[in-house]
Amino acid sequence: MTVKKARKIRNYLMITGLITMLLAYFYEPLFYIGIVITFSCLIPHFLYNKCPNCGKQLRGNEGNFCQYCGKRTDD
Ligand SMILES: [Zn+2]
Repeated sequence: MTVKKARKIRNYLMITGLITMLLAYFYEPLFYIGIVITFSCLIPHFLYNKCPNCGKQLRGNEGNFCQYCGKRTDD
């Protein structure tokens, strides 16, 4: 799993979760499903949003360089 792919999955899950929560307006149980989907975006974030060189968590860093070792994160 690359950092880029993990970010893509994370964003996809977050958006899907939020849309599902909005759809709860029509069907209430969707709200809880939306919460589960939204929070599942934390899984790729914490497991794979890491620097491939030093292994540190990139946190809010959306760039292509690690803020700890300065190397590219998309190699
Ligand atoms: Zn690093």
